[in-house]
Amino acid sequence: MAEEKQPQRKKIQATGQMMKIMSDYFYDLNDAGQSATRKVAWCTSVGPAELLRAMGFAVHFPENHAAMLGATRMATELIPEANAIGYSPDICSYLTADIGAHLKGTSPLAKAYPGIEAPPRPDVLVYNTNQCRDVQDWFTWYAREFGVPCIGITSPKNFTDVTEILVDDVTRQIEALIPTLEEVAGENLDMQRLRETVALSRECTELWRQVLETAAATPAPLTFFDGTIHMGPAVVLRGTRQAVDYYRRLLAELEQRIAEKVAAVDGEKHRIYWEGMPVWGRLRQHSELFSELQTSVLVSTYCSSWIFPDFDANDPLRSMAKAYLALFIVRSDAYKEAYIKRMLEKFNIDGIIYHDAKTCPCNSNSRYGMPQRLEQETGIPSLVISGDLNDLRCVSDEQTRTNVEAFIEQLEERR
Ligand code: SF4
Repeated sequence: MAEEKQPQRKKIQATGQMMKIMSDYFYDLNDAGQSATRKVAWCTSVGPAELLRAMGFAVHFPENHAAMLGATRMATELIPEANAIGYSPDICSYLTADIGAHLKGTSPLAKAYPGIEAPPRPDVLVYNTNQCRDVQDWFTWYAREFGVPCIGITSPKNFTDVTEILVDDVTRQIEALIPTLEEVAGENLDMQRLRETVALSRECTELWRQVLETAAATPAPLTFFDGTIHMGPAVVLRGTRQAVDYYRRLLAELEQRIAEKVAAVDGEKHRIYWEGMPVWGRLRQHSELFSELQTSVLVSTYCSSWIFPDFDANDPLRSMAKAYLALFIVRSDAYKEAYIKRMLEKFNIDGIIYHDAKTCPCNSNSRYGMPQRLEQETGIPSLVISGDLNDLRCVSDEQTRTNVEAFIEQLEERR
């Protein structure tokens, strides 16, 4: 067994600024929910947030709320509430935890942000099925609950190349959302404002890419576990100046770490790629486990999913369609494998961990032979750990620790 060390978690100084802008975001959202004039839209994580922001909506992301339910370990007890009204324990545990929280009248926002009780009531819900069908089911449930419209994009899936035909299809679907949104917002879409929002999203995404790519340095200045926290502004504030300013600051701090050879994990010996969702209720434990093993889990598909190089202010609607289609989760295995191979090389990776999340098949890429194919082609070994993003009943801490320790020993022997 690898020698045990006291884990050292190095605090990122910019965290304070991130918490402030996240707090401002949630209070603004809450104010919008209570205002007689401002409108609230609920949006999926890679839904048309740029369009909604440009039309003046305050935008709530239920997946972000569901991840908070996971991280605060409230989710597991809330999931049965949704099961009881017919939503299976086998489907997305973001959906079941979030609907469960609504049914129970509870929210992690209440504890984190005094004065806020729950997410604001929506005036409209807007989804994109580029990630999975669950988001449509999830939003449709709330549309019935609140008696408001639910509209969205039904995305093509499992394609290798983002072709013009696919982009035409999604562009038309985005255009078709506009009349309903204008009616709910009570104002017409201002194309100039949309261009500005797309430009800010592009800037945010570019800075986020640079932040994540600092982990290519040896030793890596940040880990996947840091990334899951610091991606907050990229998820809920893309299209805003605050997110851009935040990532400038974070990037400067990480570049400083590189210059001073500050490692996120002391004595970094192994460099791991994480494929799949985080286990939100175990972020700290997992971070400490790998630190003890002098192993840096430094790059992931998950955090990189908020990099959208296709956004283009000169062609806002079409470039939004391209960006939403280029998402990893919506692509074929052939594309995904080529992408992961590039990442393994770029980040000098010596092992891959696949998280097989019980309730999220779309984000679990270990089920159709990918680990075996990639290992054969690259010689880089992998480990599949079973778990879940939110439902801790699917997580065995003991088994995870035993399997991870054995895997790191295997990497040790290969050195
Ligand atoms: S991608 Fe997975 S976690 Fe995300 S909404 Fe869909 S099923 Fe849930």
